[in-house]
Amino acid sequence: MPEFCPVLWPEEPTPVDQINCCKCGLDQHGSRMIWGEGNPNAPIMIILDNPGAREDREGNAIVCGTRQTLQQAAVEVGLTMEDLYVTFILKRKPVRAYNKERTRQTCMIHLEQQLKAKEPELIFCLGNVAVQSFFQDYEAEVKALRGAIHQVKGYPTAVGYHPLAVRRRPNLWSTFVEDWKLVAKHYQNQLT
Ligand code: SF4
Repeated sequence: MPEFCPVLWPEEPTPVDQINCCKCGLDQHGSRMIWGEGNPNAPIMIILDNPGAREDREGNAIVCGTRQTLQQAAVEVGLTMEDLYVTFILKRKPVRAYNKERTRQTCMIHLEQQLKAKEPELIFCLGNVAVQSFFQDYEAEVKALRGAIHQVKGYPTAVGYHPLAVRRRPNLWSTFVEDWKLVAKHYQNQLT
């Protein structure tokens, strides 16, 4: 396995006209908004459910388990941060109960805005929440959709397990890497 050292990828600042968004009420949960991270102009857009913290309570930078596992898989298949932009269905992390369906629907306006601005060549949705929201199908599941490239909203889209699920169930690691390989292969084929 190539040498791997997780780092905190640079954060893309939230646009000033969105920074005070309070459309769904998650602004009351106290977690800050994270628009995206990695290369804002990357060809591959990864979509997760919501952002983990980038700093601890004292404000020191941290690389959470989700980010570590995601980066490890990227290294494994030869992708770098330059190839990848990570964003989220919800731009804030919920910390208590909330209306999941309504909140995810509401926050999609931001993802739609990002898609329009960035026009990624490939989307990679990680975890059932991201898949169900992006596919607009609340029955959709990673295990049924992984292993193929789908067309969603006009974008070639692959799916994979959430990095945290892979950390909790290490037997998913090889499946996770297979899905990353599919993404890398599709991307590299587009280059040739
Ligand atoms: S989660 Fe999304 S819609 Fe809700 S307040 Fe945050 S940015 Fe706005």
